[in-house]
Amino acid sequence: RPWQIDKKVLTTCPHCGTGCQFYLVVKDNKVVDVEPANGPSNKNLLCVKGRSGSFDFVHSADRVKYPLIKNKETGEFERASWDEALDLVASKFMEIKKQYGSESLAGFACSRSPNEDIYMVQKMVRTCFGTNNTDNCARVCHSASVAGLAMTLGSGAMTNPVADITQKPDLIMMVGSNPEEAHPVIGMQIRQAVQRGCKLIVVDPRDIDLSKKADIHLKLRPGTNVAFANGIMHVIIEEGLQDMKFIEERTEGYEKIKEIVKDYTPERVGEICHIDPEDLRRAAIMYAKADKAPIIYCLGVTEHSTGTEGVMSMSNMALLVGKLGREGCGVNPIRGQNNVQGACDMGAGPKDYPGYQKVENPEVREKFEKAWGVKLNPNNGLHSTEVFPAAIEGKVKGLYIYGEDPIVTDPDTHHIIKALENLDFFVIQELFMTETAQYADVILPGVSYAEKEGTFTNTERRVQRVRPAVKLDGEMRLDTDIIIDLMNRMGYAQPHMTSAEIMDEIASVTPSYGGISHARLDAGESLQWPCPTKDHPGTPILHVGKFSRGLAMFYPAEYVPSAELPDEEYPIIMMTGRMLYHYTTRAMTGRTPGLMEIQGTSYIEMNYKDADALGIKNGDKVKVSSRRGQIESTARVGRKVSQGESWMPFHFPDGNANWLTNAALDKYARIPEYKVCAIKIEKA
Ligand code: SF4
Repeated sequence: RPWQIDKKVLTTCPHCGTGCQFYLVVKDNKVVDVEPANGPSNKNLLCVKGRSGSFDFVHSADRVKYPLIKNKETGEFERASWDEALDLVASKFMEIKKQYGSESLAGFACSRSPNEDIYMVQKMVRTCFGTNNTDNCARVCHSASVAGLAMTLGSGAMTNPVADITQKPDLIMMVGSNPEEAHPVIGMQIRQAVQRGCKLIVVDPRDIDLSKKADIHLKLRPGTNVAFANGIMHVIIEEGLQDMKFIEERTEGYEKIKEIVKDYTPERVGEICHIDPEDLRRAAIMYAKADKAPIIYCLGVTEHSTGTEGVMSMSNMALLVGKLGREGCGVNPIRGQNNVQGACDMGAGPKDYPGYQKVENPEVREKFEKAWGVKLNPNNGLHSTEVFPAAIEGKVKGLYIYGEDPIVTDPDTHHIIKALENLDFFVIQELFMTETAQYADVILPGVSYAEKEGTFTNTERRVQRVRPAVKLDGEMRLDTDIIIDLMNRMGYAQPHMTSAEIMDEIASVTPSYGGISHARLDAGESLQWPCPTKDHPGTPILHVGKFSRGLAMFYPAEYVPSAELPDEEYPIIMMTGRMLYHYTTRAMTGRTPGLMEIQGTSYIEMNYKDADALGIKNGDKVKVSSRRGQIESTARVGRKVSQGESWMPFHFPDGNANWLTNAALDKYARIPEYKVCAIKIEKA
């Protein structure tokens, strides 16, 4: 560098769940650059989002820097003092609780923020609001993984570390996952593995870059994962390739799965999934015969009205061939947001206290009542996807959102807006004036990852430090201090605590985090939960020798078609997803000019045959509609998607796919069906 820097601070990338380690380079209290570090999951690699999209937003002129209260008469936000804003927030929530009861309140935590913040948000909701109506955005991305893996294996998390599933395997089976765009550093490591000779099976409705490197690409019809997995198991059993020793010693339910998959012949599955039965046969035999072969999957499996069955099908396949509890294998959901694993671990969910301890278990509840010194609500709360319909019905009246933007991210945008407009009182704690923040009564300024202490837990259950690189501006306050002040104003005596002290409290009530502390992480230890005691080294691979639930369970599932299928009026299936240059709402990457120059506007991928029939050419403006709304976008015509199918990113406000998506929910995890809705496309 031609200039002197002040310092470099080792921290964790704020974008995806890969959990890459990097240094923030600081000059004059400003982050001016990012340099890669040799972290366990990134080995000095970084992607374009981590390298370029991780600091412009920290210093953006758009940051909310002081509390804002909406003037009811003018509809404009006005600057307020901290005392005014916090008194108003606390008194309004307590008024609503008094008048309508605890269940009329809800509070969501942010899966982009540190574990310590999330723990305090759910603690506030449970102790002050008196409800378990708390959640985080895992509800709309990987809640099906948490539910499906817990039911089959006993633990709703990735089974093996990133380095293990990219460096050890003979074969990788990737289902509904496009890591080179959504988790690029994991994608790079998979590409390196393939270059070293590892076989690759890609199961995805789109041509993605890695499918060009694959030995087999099963380009299946969106929404048919369960049929695909049943077909794979049919062939494995037919060929006698199942691992009977493993099945007999470590599982239950084999006879039921055998019975179900009997009817899923490759020919029948080929028809359902629109794939060649021979390719399915080859894929099943290759997967079964490989010694070390992980399943890596992502939102293409979870974001369906049968998402949990899809996840359980991933477990079923791995159990059948004994590819669990050992290196280079496992069932591996790649988690989306940087700390969505942590948000689930910290109890930001309506049925679980921290560490997946059940709200409805009286012994667990008693433990938390003792630790927190209050009587707790014994009933499971509402999932976030149920809170919005409840607000429309007038059952939920007060909502606190810590750092989420559901107008951009949740399906069927109209119903989210209707819900927010129907609330009596809505508070948001945010970095920016987001689309959702505009509907708030009070906005409290949030603090970015580069300004505070804490930990993120990445997709492989690794707890890693977040460290402040720059000082807070003006009158801004730490998020945990804001939450603690609110708790005290609502009548709960919560002493102020540092982030390290909050982690000590987390460890004291959460067995899987029992041995984790800032001091151990700062001393250079790298800990993956479960880490129950202060001298425990952490657990890189789950289910070694014994599953978390004792015996693993095969969960038989029949193929059920998606909630909304194409018809004459809406003849094309639309899927949604992420692209390389942006992250989710673009709150961060949208403030990096270079990334916006590469891609700053909405587009829809469509098949050339559909485009020809509609008279649409590559680059044409198009109207895209579903039963829920209409948007404009730009056509990208080609062969990436099959005839009758399309794909859209949801990052761009000029044509956000979520105006069109279907809010149909999965019955277990209540995750919405982002990956299949029926649309029509017309030339604009
Ligand atoms: Fe950040 Fe994910 Fe890119 Fe790593 S792969 S640098 S964690 S966005």
